[in-house]
Amino acid sequence: MAKHHFEAEVSKLLQLMIHSLYSHKEIFLRELISNASDALDKLHLLTLTDEKFKNISFDPKITITIDEVEKRLIISDNGIGMDDVDLVENLGTIAKSGTKEFLESLSGDANKDAQLIGQFGVGFYSAFMVADRIEVISKKAGDKKAWIWRSEAGNEYEIDEATRDTQGTDVILYIRKEDEEYLSDWKIKEVVKKYSDHIPYKIFLKLAQKEPEQINKASALWKLSKNEITEDEYKEFYKTIAHDDNDPLYWIHTKAEGTIEYTTLFYIPSSRPFDLFRADYQSGVKLYVKNVFIMDDDKELLPVYLRFVRGIIDAEDLPLNVSREILQQNIVLSKIKKASTKKILNELKKLKEKDKDKYLKFWELFGRVIKEGLIADFENRKLLLELLLFKTSKSDEYIDLKTYVERMKQDQKGIYYLVGEENLKDSPLLERFRKEDIEVLLCEDEIDSFVMPALVQYKEKTFKSISSTEVDEDFEKSEIDESRYKDLLEKIKEILKEDVKEVKITSRLTESPAVLVFDKDDPEFQMYQMMRQMGQFDAKEPKPVLEINPEHEIFGKMVLSNDFSLVSEVATVIYNEARLLEGMKIKNVGDFAKAINTLAAKAVS
Ligand code: ADP
Ligand code: MG
Repeated sequence: MAKHHFEAEVSKLLQLMIHSLYSHKEIFLRELISNASDALDKLHLLTLTDEKFKNISFDPKITITIDEVEKRLIISDNGIGMDDVDLVENLGTIAKSGTKEFLESLSGDANKDAQLIGQFGVGFYSAFMVADRIEVISKKAGDKKAWIWRSEAGNEYEIDEATRDTQGTDVILYIRKEDEEYLSDWKIKEVVKKYSDHIPYKIFLKLAQKEPEQINKASALWKLSKNEITEDEYKEFYKTIAHDDNDPLYWIHTKAEGTIEYTTLFYIPSSRPFDLFRADYQSGVKLYVKNVFIMDDDKELLPVYLRFVRGIIDAEDLPLNVSREILQQNIVLSKIKKASTKKILNELKKLKEKDKDKYLKFWELFGRVIKEGLIADFENRKLLLELLLFKTSKSDEYIDLKTYVERMKQDQKGIYYLVGEENLKDSPLLERFRKEDIEVLLCEDEIDSFVMPALVQYKEKTFKSISSTEVDEDFEKSEIDESRYKDLLEKIKEILKEDVKEVKITSRLTESPAVLVFDKDDPEFQMYQMMRQMGQFDAKEPKPVLEINPEHEIFGKMVLSNDFSLVSEVATVIYNEARLLEGMKIKNVGDFAKAINTLAAKAVS
């Protein structure tokens, strides 16, 4: 007998599972059946493609046995099985990347954590919610030896040699006293019906002294036609394949018949997968060929910006025994990918038109990810543009570009947008647009700073950033006598020379004293924008131009009285104020405070 210690993360997850997930105990059965089904999938493929396994007589099935005497529930399959090394790797550690960070992110609040654990996917360990002791007896296909894994949760488990006739696995649960309902046949039937009716293998229920009885339909759900499937069946099937406890937000079921035959069933989750923003996220799409499972970890099946999609692709015309590398160059598969991407985007567009609330929910969850497509997927740019939603200077509700363009003023020169971190509504850059009643898109997502400059056009209207001097050409030139301000501008420039490239007079402002903009002709700025568009986000931002409002009384008075004794304080204050209003931080808080105090002292004296 060999004792082993669980990886620290496993112990922690086990504790969480036992103490915070009560409300969803029944999902343990869904998870164990899905593991059994995965094991059958793996062996199924090998028997079709690998000489070593071709002569195994394989009648795939899952059997659930209720042992009322010993209070045990046993879930058995005749799938791929595990040897001793597999047992350590699979049932003693958590392979999922990001597990440690995930566990650290939990709050300790049982309700919130339960929700998050649901998104993380609980898997095998969820069985400890109903069992205080678990044994796994397994024999790997092709091996002679069988093994037993044993644990009572805690920090340890044991592995020993054992006996088992055929390849496969028995998961033996010693059911806790308070969970004895899971030893009744009606409860097992109910849970299997709910979650596992449509896994592609037969599930039998076996009671003492009785013949096993098949308790699921065992028909692959995605192969049925739409009118044979109820809403609930779609939902529960999602929960089984996505290991998510929440209902999906939306699904798209497609049967393509024509030169290439395939079936796809895609789901949009109603919460963000926990690893959505990790580079090593897990794929959520399973590939089947004529009902035979091929793989579920191929990130190439859909574009990266659709990585939140869960579901199934089942192709008719793919060879079963091809390697992953060859599969990626497979022309049939790449056609399916292309068509599926278009289909999903088109369906989202339809959703936007027919169910606004649902689409808003979708946008809040995945809008940021969809935006990545605007940079990565030129082919579908037009469609992707239709999916975008924005808040604007005139609307706290999201609007789409179509609405924006419909509302454009007759002589308006383009689609104006402003990118920044937060509170863009207060930006002085909006003043001139407000005065002229022109709407501006407000873009506060981090990703907007490289998506927006890459957009170019929508319906032949050009996108224009209002923080670039480019937009000045769209307005009439002011008739201010700049020479009167020459001294003032030079003095301010001297004080702020480290921070700004130039100081100029502007007609951009109606209320605020000053604003920071980028000169469209500044080669450094053009270079910066280009680098961002190419994905180099560490490029150093060039210095902005400080523009001041000559009509503001601060400057009017200074110029009129020709008294520049406070120009240093004024420059420091207006520069930092402009930064704040444009969503940046104050540059030197100490100097800023000192300047304000000096001005305040002067004002009260
Ligand atoms: P996941 O299924 O997401 O990988 P689980 O915690 O459910 O995570 O299972 C961990 C691993 O244990 C599986 O990936 C699989 O390798 C192995 N495993 C679990 N149950 C079985 C089984 N019945 N037959 C073969 N392998 C299994
Ligand atoms: Mg699993």
